[in-house]
Formats: sequence, C-alpha cells, structure tokens
Amino acid sequence: MEISRQGTTSVVRLEDVETFLRRVDPGSFFSAGVGNDGRFECLVRQFLASSTRLHHPGYMAHQVALPNYGSALADLISGVLNNGMSVYEMGPAAGAIEVAVIDWMLDKIGWPPTGRNRDQEPAAGRTPGGGVLTHGGTLANLTALLAARAASAPEAWAGGTPRDLVLLASPVAHYSIFRAAAILGLGTGAILPIPSDRFGRILPAGLAALVQRARSEGCRVMAVCVNACATATGLFDPLQAAGEFCRESGIWLHVDGAHGASALLHPALRQRLSGIELADSVVWDTHKLLGTSALATGVLVRDGSTLGRTFQQEAAYVTEGQRETGVDFIESQFECTKAPLGLKLFLTLAVTGETGLAANIETLFSLTRRVHGQIASRNGFEVLCEPESNILCFRLRSGDDALQTRIRKDLMRRGEFLLSQADVDGQRWLRLTLMNPLTDETTIERLLDAIEVLASGSQG
Ligand SMILES: *Cc1c(COP(=O)(O)O)cnc(C)c1O
Repeated sequence: MEISRQGTTSVVRLEDVETFLRRVDPGSFFSAGVGNDGRFECLVRQFLASSTRLHHPGYMAHQVALPNYGSALADLISGVLNNGMSVYEMGPAAGAIEVAVIDWMLDKIGWPPTGRNRDQEPAAGRTPGGGVLTHGGTLANLTALLAARAASAPEAWAGGTPRDLVLLASPVAHYSIFRAAAILGLGTGAILPIPSDRFGRILPAGLAALVQRARSEGCRVMAVCVNACATATGLFDPLQAAGEFCRESGIWLHVDGAHGASALLHPALRQRLSGIELADSVVWDTHKLLGTSALATGVLVRDGSTLGRTFQQEAAYVTEGQRETGVDFIESQFECTKAPLGLKLFLTLAVTGETGLAANIETLFSLTRRVHGQIASRNGFEVLCEPESNILCFRLRSGDDALQTRIRKDLMRRGEFLLSQADVDGQRWLRLTLMNPLTDETTIERLLDAIEVLASGSQG
C-alpha cells in the first residue's frame, strides 16, 4: 500500500484475461488445491500485482472510496464470523449495529429514528423513520422505487405493475434508475424526463406542467426521482423546491444521494442538500464518500411503515411475525442472507469519527474546486462547469469526442492515471472523481502534460 501511496508504480495494470490466467494457471490447482509449497502466497501476490491501486494519487476515475482501516477490519471480522444477519439470531450484534447505523443516517437527514432501539424512540407525535442497509446503490434504488410502487399501487405485488404508472426522473439519473423501471415492470418508456438545464440539473418550475400533462393523459405519477448529486457531473438538484412541490402534490420524492448524501455530515456543505428532509426516500452509499469498503448502502424512508409494506411476503422459516427479542431485516430488503454491512460504517466511525469524515469530504471538495481553476486557466482545456462536489468534467478544447475517448484509453494503457468519462450537454468529457487526498495540483499538472503529449501524438 505504501508503494501505491508514493505513486511510483502504475495505478492500473490492464492485460487480457488469458494473459493473467496463464500466469496464475488455475487449471493446475483447482481440483486438488495448491498444497503446502508456498504457492498460495504466490497466488495472493499475483492477485495484488494485477489489482487496481485506489491508494495511488493517479486514481481519479470512479467513486469507490479509499477504504478506512476500520472498515477493512470489519470485512475480516465478518469473513471469519460469517453472520448472515438478516434474521436476528444469525447475528444479534450485527443486527443491533444496523439499527444504530440506520438511526444515525436518519438523524443526519433530519428524520426521527426507527424506534427499533427502545432507548431512542421518536419524539411524541412524530412518525418513525425507516431504513435498511443493502448491497449497493443500485439495489438500493430498486428497493426505494419498489417502496414507491407499493405506496401508489399496493395491488402491484400480486397483480403486476399497472400500465398507468409513470416515473418522473432527472434526464441524467443514474442508469440504475432506468434498470429499476425495467425490472419493476414499468418499462424505461414510463420514465418521463424532468425539464433541466444544459448540465442536467432539474428545473423545478417544469415539474408542475409535466405532472399535469401526465395526469391529463390518465397516468399516475409513481415518483419523482432527483439527484444529490448526479453521477456524471457531481451537481446537486434543487431538493427544497422539488420537495415542496412533491409534498403539495402528494407525490413520492426519491432522492438518489448515493454519492452526495455524505455531504450531510459537513455543517456548510450540507446546504447543497437542504430540503432533503422533504423526500420520501433517500439512498446513501457509505462506500463512496464515507470511506467504507465496498459495499454498503442505506435505503432510508421518512415514514418507516412504507418500507414495511414493500415486500409483501410470508416465509415462516425466516420470518417470525412479532419478535420478542431483536429485529429482523429480511422483510424490508432484497437479500435473504446478508453480510453484516453496518459493521463497516460502525468501525469507520469508531476509527475516524464523524468530524474526521466531514473533514475528508471538505478536503476532497476543496481540492476539486482548486483543480477546476487550475484546468480552466490552462490553455487548450475547457471545463464543463463550477464543481459542487469532488466530481469534475473537462476536455481538450481542440479535440472531438473520439479524441477524448482515445486519450482516456491511452492513459489507462500507460497506467499512470485512471480517469473516467461522461457525456454531458451533447459532448464527451473526461471525468475526474477526486477520492484520494494524495492527489494534488502536481498530479493534475502531470496529467494535463501527459494528455497534451498524447493529443499531439494522435494528431501528428
Ligand atoms: C454510484 C451511484 C449509484 C450506484 O451505486 P452502487 O453502489 O455503485 O450500486 C447510483 N446512483 C448514483 C447517483 C451514484 O452515484
């Protein structure tokens, strides 16, 4: 890991599947194992050598965190214990910890706790919140939209999805929203794009007309789905206005906060999420900006009873109905067996604390603002817009889309930098996600130099 941090090796080592497999030669030991001759250690080393180095300053491609030591330890502990904790007796400690973690997330949003910890009941007259941890944002979005479907069409579980349901979504919604619509039986054709600016940020003023149009055509609006923040651009949708509109119109508001909800931890940055408490459901990945190892995501709902009505299933061998001791998660999640996901965040908080996590987010966001200025001031480059998070899009001014794509591939092949790309406002952009506090202006200077060299090479 120290070698990765120094950045003296490559961040990524791309080779063909067969090149790697020829080297490790699984055919020679899959049937009988490697025996006792040191080969096991050799296999582990070969695996490590061909793995992508997230601790390397040149890692700026995707949104996966540099894992906190606490979370890595949680993985080791859970690997040894193997407490598949969906029902309480399969992991009482893990179950209690999930309750604590969900209540903590609800509190950050501004919602009352679940009441599953009797020492922390919601204040009198307030509706208990609800939530469950699940394996990633994709599954979390599907779960939240399933809850939205159960709220607007409870008959759908047995009778199938009614044909009049539509979903209003940001045009730059994460692809998992489109998948969820397909899987839920709405079809992606039932997603109506919310009017937006050229960066894909929704224009709340356009929502009313869109809802009116859908309703006049005999459609039921199942949910409005917005980003906090958008994956491609890192920009936050205006949650307050969207929330007020949805509450007045009686429409389920889903906030996909997979990436950006972590900004709730920071007293100033949380303003980007103001109004989030007006939502009905929020999805929040801990393996992005909270620094847990992959993966653990909160599906959080303002009214806990909605999650209880989402999965309408009885299975006597796993569900008990009213439990005397502890809580089951199995009725409000997809998974049957589930890893003790809450332990990752629990031990991350134990190691770094909320203030430490907030400081890291501030470091990454302010680094991104400085890098934006640095790229914008450099001749030959153009930036998409002022960043609002740790995600930033830029491109070579002189090149077409194909050139940006080729440069990214060339950089990856050379192995010094790992970037991603995005299509926004009709153009292809190189995309930086600055997850690593070791990435600095010098790294970026070297990146821009390398891009210029590659560009002159492919044009000449
Ligand atoms: C990353 C992301 C997802 C998907 O989350 P996974 O944990 O990778 O499945 C969904 N929505 C948004 C906005 C994201 O940034």
